[in-house]
Amino acid sequence: MTDRYCVIGNPIAHSKSPIIHAAFAAQTGQDLTYQHELAPLGGFDAHVHGLMAAGVRGANVTVPFKLDAARLATRLSARAQAAGAVNTLSFQDGDIVGDNTDGAGLVADIVRNAGVDLLGARVLLLGAGGAARGVVLPILEAGAAGVVVANRTRATADAMVAAFADARVTACEYADVDAVFDVVVNATSASLAGELVPVPPVAFGAGTLAYDMMYAAAPTPFMVFAASHGAQVRDGLGMLVEQAAEAFAVWRGVRPDTAPMFSLLRQSA
Ligand code: NDP
Repeated sequence: MTDRYCVIGNPIAHSKSPIIHAAFAAQTGQDLTYQHELAPLGGFDAHVHGLMAAGVRGANVTVPFKLDAARLATRLSARAQAAGAVNTLSFQDGDIVGDNTDGAGLVADIVRNAGVDLLGARVLLLGAGGAARGVVLPILEAGAAGVVVANRTRATADAMVAAFADARVTACEYADVDAVFDVVVNATSASLAGELVPVPPVAFGAGTLAYDMMYAAAPTPFMVFAASHGAQVRDGLGMLVEQAAEAFAVWRGVRPDTAPMFSLLRQSA
């Protein structure tokens, strides 16, 4: 029987996840379908229970429901627990298992696809929202020496750092950034609004990878700014593809080859 999966969000029509998972299924010979699911704001739980009753096997979760998914899950993976957010749900005999593959996706894209080693790296993380929180543990597990979190609202960065309770994770003001970093990750939603995060140019050097989690047809303001100060730049398309591959592996036990996805998605951007 064909297994059913989906991505739940609001809005959701723009999501490329159905294209990615259909290609993964074709490539690996897995018998499954994957579709968009628009859940009403305030109606996430009922929507998920409806999908489970209809026999759906799993779901990706995106804005604005990642925290709802973490709350609704009856079991959480360690990385979902650390992130405080869930982007991958598996429905197993009435259980709702929550996982978070965003951080693994970012690390895979940085290390495997961009060829940048995180071992001993000094990482500047811009933003302290759900996406930022989800990538801290995987970055540390990849061997980074430290993660400095800068956020517009300092109290949110402080609360995030306190939750990790790890001396390698610290917070600072944007204005206090006074050294070059190996990797600068823009995990704010500033690029969505066409705005530039106020990160000082000193953070970027010739050896810096400046990574914007957002992806778009054109380079984001953050990428343009970082490149103008000598950094190598990369957008979040690879993170999107790699987090999907990780979710596919969680559900199906098979890891798809992500390389063919890049040209396919750039064409459909
Ligand atoms: P949240 O709404 O949880 O967090 C937004 C963050 O951005 C907060 O830290 C907020 O700061 C900051 N921010 C918003 N506007 C500005 C601004 N103008 N200047 C400076 N900081 C700003 O969003 P998420 O964490 O869920 O998502 C963040 C980004 O990551 C989005 O662009 C999203 O598309 C992308 N993403 C990409 C993925 C991928 O696969 N490529 C996966 C997940 C996310 P404050 O606390 O002060 O409000």
